[in-house]
Amino acid sequence: MTDSKNPETIVLHSGWRSDPTTGSVAVPIHQTTSYQFNNTDHAASLFALSELGNIYTRIMNPTNDVLEQRIAALEGGVAALSVSSGQTATAMSLQNIAHAGDNIISSTDLYGGTWNLFANTLPDMGIEVRFVDPSDPQAFENAIDDKTRAIYAETLPNPKLEVFPIAEVAAIGRAHGIPLIMDNTAAPILCRPLDHGAAIVVYSSTKYIGGHGTSIGGLIVDGGNFDWAAAGDRQPYLNQPDPSYHGAVWTVAAAPLGPIAYILKARTTLLRDLGGAMSPFNAFQFLQGMETLPLRMRAHCENASKVADFLSSHDAVERVIYPSLMDDNLKSRADAVMNGGYGALMGFELKAGSEAGKKFIDALQMLYHVANIGDARSLAIHPASTTHSQLSPEDQFSSGVTPGYVRLSVGIEHIDDILADLDQALQKI
Ligand code: PLP
Repeated sequence: MTDSKNPETIVLHSGWRSDPTTGSVAVPIHQTTSYQFNNTDHAASLFALSELGNIYTRIMNPTNDVLEQRIAALEGGVAALSVSSGQTATAMSLQNIAHAGDNIISSTDLYGGTWNLFANTLPDMGIEVRFVDPSDPQAFENAIDDKTRAIYAETLPNPKLEVFPIAEVAAIGRAHGIPLIMDNTAAPILCRPLDHGAAIVVYSSTKYIGGHGTSIGGLIVDGGNFDWAAAGDRQPYLNQPDPSYHGAVWTVAAAPLGPIAYILKARTTLLRDLGGAMSPFNAFQFLQGMETLPLRMRAHCENASKVADFLSSHDAVERVIYPSLMDDNLKSRADAVMNGGYGALMGFELKAGSEAGKKFIDALQMLYHVANIGDARSLAIHPASTTHSQLSPEDQFSSGVTPGYVRLSVGIEHIDDILADLDQALQKI
């Protein structure tokens, strides 16, 4: 979905003008399960994929279609798939190209839910996950063998908030016919991983894209920039006959429709077989969220940078973890891929340690204490006593969580009110 307009325009216009029968400007919620075929030939050609069109809402829906076109345009990709959650997006993005007996390589810096999926559930399904510390991009090359099908990482992983070396690792993967799949949940608008060599982008749209903390959803964007056919046996499930679709070879079947082999396979096999579809109502909610996403990201980043300044000069604070405040190497990694700000996730360490972290959270009056990120509201959590409490102190430390670490997801309230709440809570520790 090539759209040369700017992000602020794409989120309002791409993929939709008005409803051809009613003139409705807002995208209607197509709350239907199924679609009347024109005649038997039409039905047969939809099922044969010689024509794209609506069959059944588990696999496609006109409301979701606009969302999919819009996110593909925003990311500079060719097509997208909306699914029931960010977790579904991650799982399907990998199951699409890795089966039992294969392996994928993942950065160690991951959202906890993804870590569990990779450390337990994918191995239960026979897919090995090899974890690699992203501080040395070359380590990804060393982990590759002939069964490696994908590399996976997050653009701006919390709690460390060290931006992933997208271009370096994407180039290593491409040299072996292996795509880099980037979870860009924490940095929409700010970073377009496809521009730096990633092949696939996944999102938890639950976070910034929805933006209002109302709906769970996920998105997978196909960059259309990866030569699956040239990868040959490295990518067997796109290049060999697929018994689950009359022996279709996806790179061949998709060719008349564009470079969409990867996402076409995900839709027509995984969504068909596993379900995990996004409801049209949630697709509508995400379309509403997307309309203000560029504006909100700007406001999130402006506020976050002021919060970082405030905390950096506060006596109770040992250290602030935010990409702009990192050493030259890490800051230049962030500068290489992020435009318009360093995001709105931030960590800080209280000099007084764990008890002070808990007291700080309990003293907050406006910031919400929740296990979430990317809401328009400001959010805070003390990982050592919550999200990371099951980890040993050593594992907490290696994941970037110290006893006094507090994570903030800075919202778009007035900055004076955010700072006032942080200030009064810091006085109570
Ligand atoms: N990826 C990241 C970076 C996340 O923070 C989350 C959720 O917190 C997910 C994926 C999973 O998304 P969802 O909760 O929509 O399944």
